[in-house]
Amino acid sequence: ASAWSQVPQGPPDAILGITEAFKKDSNPKKINLGVGAYRDDAGKPYVLPSVQQAEQTVVQQNLDKEYAGITGVPDFTKAAALLAYGPDSTPLKEGRVCITQSISGTGALRIGGAFLQRFYPGAKTIYIPTPSWANHKAVFLDSGLEVKQYRYYNKDTIGLDFDGMVEDIKNMPKGSMVLLHACAHNPTGVDPTEQQWKAISDAVKEGGHYPFFDMAYQGFASGNTDKDAFALRYFLKEGHLPCLAQSFAKNMGLYGERVGAFSVVASSTEEKARLDSQIKILVRPLYSNPPVHGARIASTILNDPKLNQQWLGEVEGMAGRIIKMRALLKENLEKMGSKHKWDHITDQIGMFAYTGLNAEQMTKLAEEHSVYATKDGRISVAGITTDNVGRLAEAIYKVKG
Ligand code: PMP
Repeated sequence: ASAWSQVPQGPPDAILGITEAFKKDSNPKKINLGVGAYRDDAGKPYVLPSVQQAEQTVVQQNLDKEYAGITGVPDFTKAAALLAYGPDSTPLKEGRVCITQSISGTGALRIGGAFLQRFYPGAKTIYIPTPSWANHKAVFLDSGLEVKQYRYYNKDTIGLDFDGMVEDIKNMPKGSMVLLHACAHNPTGVDPTEQQWKAISDAVKEGGHYPFFDMAYQGFASGNTDKDAFALRYFLKEGHLPCLAQSFAKNMGLYGERVGAFSVVASSTEEKARLDSQIKILVRPLYSNPPVHGARIASTILNDPKLNQQWLGEVEGMAGRIIKMRALLKENLEKMGSKHKWDHITDQIGMFAYTGLNAEQMTKLAEEHSVYATKDGRISVAGITTDNVGRLAEAIYKVKG
């Protein structure tokens, strides 16, 4: 018998299932709002001009293909930390941020999970928001952590359950690990305000909890990378010593290049050195060292002042187009005469909008209108264009009124 005769069939990936159904649909006006990747206003994947230019520079340099160190390309990780923590960051200036390149954001979370599993002195339970990016739970479970949840989304207001969130954080056992989406919460698009972040920071501090920031969309929410780093930087100012997962998939459009970083803020340079050594010991048996090409591209963009400026403009452009599509969708729904309020579409931020449509309505959207997205009512706003927004609004109006 085969060694694998007892392996059970697993369920298909929810997002990939949508793409399959979308591909099979013969309607020429079909719309795919399932996948979380940016599209331009023609609905096409977008390679940033700054990335094209940086890539040419990298190729022209004729660099060798030798291995990077275990923690990756130093020029990249240094610049990545600066982007996240900011030039005024005390821990950065004091040299107590331990950072490693990672296989994009997922890899950063996975290294983080493994690090916490091995060294976190408290209970090995991490709390993630309800709902959260579907992969968070799987990543942390596979890292050997226990996963619990805190309240986050209020389906009645289609907004933040701020009181529930703070109450849950306060009620966690002392010294719990808490995962926070730094900005552009996936899947809801609902972010705390700056005022609310301050209260969240207080609650985390009060509980002696450990904050783990997942920043997969820096710049993608507001269009400004500093503004989107508010929560992380505020926590640092407040004396928290968080860890951080960064991804350059969205803000540089480097999805398949897998460029990211994991960092831990230490309390001293001596502590940082110990953490550095352990991160290396952890990464080495996982994949030895990360790929260099994407990191070289990102490094070129981040370290060349002119290219960096250009890139920041392009990030602003992507975020701006998404914000515009939100406004257009709301406007079109109101024009149709929808009796519902759609303010949440423009209040929410980042790649995704939580429409408030239920699973049944989402099924109708697909079957009767060829509009495809996840059953939780999440749509990728990046898939909306000036050309399809009218048809989308009409479809939503027809299934929801
Ligand atoms: N965290 C969140 C919240 C995300 O939405 C994503 C991307 N969908 C990631 C992490 C990681 O993505 P990647 O591994 O492509 O960087």
